[in-house]
Amino acid sequence: MQWTLPFVVILMLSKLLAPSAQADMPSVIEALLSRETRLMVFAPHPDDESLGAGGLIQRALSLGGKAKVVFMTNGDGYPEGVELLDHISHPTAKDYREYGDERRVEAGHATAALGLLEGDVIFLGFPDGGLTNLWKTFRSDSHSYRSPFTLEKRPPPSEVIVPKTDYNGHDLKKEIKRVLDDFKPNLLVVPAPRDQHPDHSSTYHFVIEALRSLQKKGTGPKPAVITYLVHFGQWPVGQGSGTGSTLKPPRRFPGRETNWVSFALNPKEREVKRKAILKHHSQMLVMGRFLLSFARDNELFVVDRQAGNRGLKRGQQGRLSRVPHAPKKQG
Ligand SMILES: [Zn+2]
Repeated sequence: MQWTLPFVVILMLSKLLAPSAQADMPSVIEALLSRETRLMVFAPHPDDESLGAGGLIQRALSLGGKAKVVFMTNGDGYPEGVELLDHISHPTAKDYREYGDERRVEAGHATAALGLLEGDVIFLGFPDGGLTNLWKTFRSDSHSYRSPFTLEKRPPPSEVIVPKTDYNGHDLKKEIKRVLDDFKPNLLVVPAPRDQHPDHSSTYHFVIEALRSLQKKGTGPKPAVITYLVHFGQWPVGQGSGTGSTLKPPRRFPGRETNWVSFALNPKEREVKRKAILKHHSQMLVMGRFLLSFARDNELFVVDRQAGNRGLKRGQQGRLSRVPHAPKKQG
């Protein structure tokens, strides 16, 4: 990894500030929120928006800011989920498509619970379980990926933003560039690049590449970029769950220098976040315990260094507060 100037500044500041001196500082996240905030959250699947940033979205809106959620996929490639929901053992392409439709409806209910309007929610309709194929193999628009679940090669017509979009990395990047350029976020929330679910890490890479491509032209948005983690081993189930408990970073998360930032939720935000998670009925059915283990008193983010974070002023970078990792047996 190249050591960019912001990276060095962050590293120096985090080393200079003793933990005791950081304790009372507002988190860098709070410093980024105001009525000027234009928050854009990328969710690989319906439910990630509530798990990762359900509280942050509420806070941005309550302060008078704007927020949008972009769903990369409709979560239509989940055999265990379809089998459980529909009580069938061999789902067909039609079953998978209908499952995606159901998850899209649930995503609408969850985002509405968080305070978003229909127009604030964007569905790209790309293939669940296929984003890494697009990133690694189907990068150009010369050939397209076919979902082994829905058997589709392109998003549903109602979800196409750029005409003639097919399932390939080239077209996905064009769509992401369009939504970034249309909204011009000043706070961008993406999955952590080291999230163990391939759709999550690929979402990070697609969004950051699209952002850099826009910025190269000199006209693109320059948001602060923060990441959220959903999948890392059994985390965070081992830490218990529910309001009254604090979410801590997984102990063995790679990258010692990682700056986790804790964002505290108020009681109303906690309750609404929990309700938003519960709106994802189909997912509660398969992994309710896991989903509710994100319903805590706080949310965790990492200030992304690879993205350069030109949207963060130096003073804000200095407000990073270190969060202790989970105890060994719980990580
Ligand atoms: Zn996901």
